[in-house]
Amino acid sequence: MRHAWRDGAFTAAVGLGDSPTINVTMGRCVGGSSVLTGGVCFRIPGAVLHEWQRDLGLEEYSEEGLEPYVSHVERTIHVEEVPVAMRSRSTSLFVEGAEQLGVPMKPIRRNTKNCNGCGRCNFGCPHGAKMSVDLSYLPRAVTGGASVWSHALVERVMTRNGRAVGVVGRILNRDGAAPGDLLEVRARRVVIAAGGWHTPLILQRSGLGHPRWVGRQMTLHPGFRVLGRFARPVRGWVGALQSAYTDAFERERITLMGLFVPPGVLGATMPGVGAEHVAAASHIDHLAMFGGIIHDSGGGSVYRGPGREPVVTYRMAPEDRAKIPRVIALLAETFFAAGAEEVFIPVLGMRGLDADAFRQMDFSRVPASRIECASQHPLGSARMGCSRENSVVDPEGRVWGVQDLYIADGSVLPTSLGVNPQLSIMTVATRIAWRMRDRHLPPID
Ligand SMILES: Cc1cc2nc3c(=O)[nH]c(=O)nc-3n(C[C@H](O)[C@H](O)[C@H](O)COP(=O)(O)OP(=O)(O)OC[C@H]3O[C@@H](n4cnc5c(N)ncnc54)[C@H](O)[C@@H]3O)c2cc1C
Ligand code: SF4
Repeated sequence: MRHAWRDGAFTAAVGLGDSPTINVTMGRCVGGSSVLTGGVCFRIPGAVLHEWQRDLGLEEYSEEGLEPYVSHVERTIHVEEVPVAMRSRSTSLFVEGAEQLGVPMKPIRRNTKNCNGCGRCNFGCPHGAKMSVDLSYLPRAVTGGASVWSHALVERVMTRNGRAVGVVGRILNRDGAAPGDLLEVRARRVVIAAGGWHTPLILQRSGLGHPRWVGRQMTLHPGFRVLGRFARPVRGWVGALQSAYTDAFERERITLMGLFVPPGVLGATMPGVGAEHVAAASHIDHLAMFGGIIHDSGGGSVYRGPGREPVVTYRMAPEDRAKIPRVIALLAETFFAAGAEEVFIPVLGMRGLDADAFRQMDFSRVPASRIECASQHPLGSARMGCSRENSVVDPEGRVWGVQDLYIADGSVLPTSLGVNPQLSIMTVATRIAWRMRDRHLPPID
């Protein structure tokens, strides 16, 4: 985790007002966060594209308009449905509970090839079975003549006469160079793809992009997980981490999604100290887990900090905040319907609750500071739009007001999606890339 996850997974968006502080995780390795995913792949939902067309004027962002790009990406990263046989017992129990409650569950698609269901996806697939960017796109780029410079930090974009002409940064700890050595790359075109957390920081350091929008309105898909403890062993870490979901609550802008974490990580998150913690952790083979995300409406702000990393805050919209108890109740009641003896809800220090105790609890009285919330999806911090007055990039990914500067990552998605975003990001990035390829390459300055 120390090497592949940013800040060893301790990155956070500080909650403002009545918002919980959100642990936002991301990759910092070659291949970016795609190396850490559970492999889940969703196309941009039709309703979201409709919103983009109707409210933002992104007319070419329709299901038909994006079809060539998304189907190309799906072939490249080998998107396939997870077979029911590979579902973990954790997910199967949740699906049983959902059936009892009449909630339809759907299979998940993932970018895998010859996956054996060992469940270690979030730490980088040890079998090379997850077709993350380091295995799918980067080798092709290198074959096509690209050089990969890892262990290097880009600080700002160089511009001349309103054109991007390269980047400046520092070498971190790369062989053959001293830490802190200057890195300067001259280019005919610059594409920033540092993710929703860092792309706005590079723009801010460079003094580029509309200050009203750079690093503003970032969405996170705030996520919550509930554990159910069952009488019989579950061993939820055996099988694909993520194999089923439901969009039955999308009208409430809530998606429920299978997930699990390896036992060592799960044990460490159990409540209590000393002997009490040991007792709780010794039951982890009896635990099932499921998560829920809120299709949020923004509230994240990225600021330049004193060091290398940005300072990020998140003020949850009141209507999103009001959904937290609902997400927790949906997850907990599904586990009870499946026969769970008690549930562990995402409240710091909270012990397991049986069904009676859970139903008597008034979750609305739990202060935001005690709610455990996580996100893996920082999006929209350099949003795309049709006018320089309300966006950072145009529909082709070009930063307004600067020639030959593009952004092609999650920061351009103008709203949250309600589903995991990697396939959507790759789809939009592919569109930006193909359009760029068709444009005349300017001479070197
Ligand atoms: C644990 C985890 C599980 C996830 N699971 C799923 C899933 O199952 N399905 C799904 O759809 N999505 C999932 N996601 C989200 C998905 O991985 C991301 O949304 C997506 O990969 C983001 O792509 P990106 O190109 O915007 O940024 P990233 O993939 O984060 O890439 C940004 C890259 O830029 C580098 N960088 C940043 N700043 C600089 C700088 N100044 N100079 C040089 N380099 C820089 C970073 O180190 C990183 O390598 C998950 C994420 C995590 C963390
Ligand atoms: S389940 Fe195991 S083999 Fe399959 S993608 Fe994840 S880590 Fe790789």
